[in-house]
Amino acid sequence: MEERKEHFHGEDVNVKVSNGDNDSQLKPGSATCAKEVEDAPQASHSNFSHPVYKEIALANGHVNRMSKEELRCRLSQLKLDTRGVKDVMKKRLKSHYKKQKLMQSAANEGPGDAYYDYICVVDFEATCEEDNPPDYLHEIIEFPMVLISTRTLEIVGTFQEYVKPELCPTLSDFCVKLTGITQETVDAAKPFPLVLKRVVKWLQERELGTKYKYTFLTDGAWDMSKFLNIQCRVSQIRYPQFARKWINIRKSYGNFYKVPRTQTKLSTMLDKLGLEYEGRPHSGLDDSRNIARVALRMLRDGCQLRANEHMHGGQLLAIPSSAPLEGAPSPRWPGTRK
Ligand code: AMP
Ligand code: MG
Repeated sequence: MEERKEHFHGEDVNVKVSNGDNDSQLKPGSATCAKEVEDAPQASHSNFSHPVYKEIALANGHVNRMSKEELRCRLSQLKLDTRGVKDVMKKRLKSHYKKQKLMQSAANEGPGDAYYDYICVVDFEATCEEDNPPDYLHEIIEFPMVLISTRTLEIVGTFQEYVKPELCPTLSDFCVKLTGITQETVDAAKPFPLVLKRVVKWLQERELGTKYKYTFLTDGAWDMSKFLNIQCRVSQIRYPQFARKWINIRKSYGNFYKVPRTQTKLSTMLDKLGLEYEGRPHSGLDDSRNIARVALRMLRDGCQLRANEHMHGGQLLAIPSSAPLEGAPSPRWPGTRK
């Protein structure tokens, strides 16, 4: 599926992906921006000549020279997670020092942009054939959400509704086998507009977008740019404003741990972090939970996950890392298409 997700970029939506999407990374651009500070998180300091970057560079240089055993020992002393490959441990330790130094330094200079209170992970399952033709009209058959608190770094809520497909109500044998979702389950489910109303209510009840700042997070661009986009067209409703921006965790993971996009499949991300998939792959809720586990590990490792993709005029676009960190608007029923 991962490859398919990427292939879609050329098919149905016009993708403009810039490389300015590095989560938690400051751009090189001054004398002090050595290799060691490239991956410093976004902070209130916009100027690399600030002495804190010199300190971060020194700490990172020190971490770079540590053996795997030294890394594990230091992480353990700091009561940090000691799992994962050497590069993951290095990144974790650097992020810890970086965060400490930036926090100390920022304490005297006032708060920066407030971070999201919650991140809502979504992983749709949709109708499919073994070889979906490029113009295949996928219909969403499972709408799961897993809510992460960025403060407690825990999963604090889950939502799951199956959806009755309307264009093609009969699931292919391939789809049933892939997703584990049965014909009886979708026959008994509500059509998409009604499920979306429940989704809006669930988000509103949690005061997301009103009292709390939040954003969505997906594994790849497809969930919003393809599945939700097509479904809204099929159901004759507008694309919901509150789902216009999201964090594509594959991009965030690749940028943060400095790995190529070929190593950002969900199974690979879990594996590199020393985690195992829990549950049934291609169950939307289980996929969402596992994506949430990756996101939580990244947050613990010091990554400031930020919305990095958005839909605009039916197109998928990248959000540059320099854009202000805005939360999703409060969820509302999007209304029907004229
Ligand atoms: P995933 O999030 O990987 O479970 O995939 C989301 C949706 O993509 C599935 O519900 C299917 O509609 C489609 N899909 C995933 N993998 C495949 C595949 N190997 N062949 C065809 N469609 C797929
Ligand atoms: Mg899935």
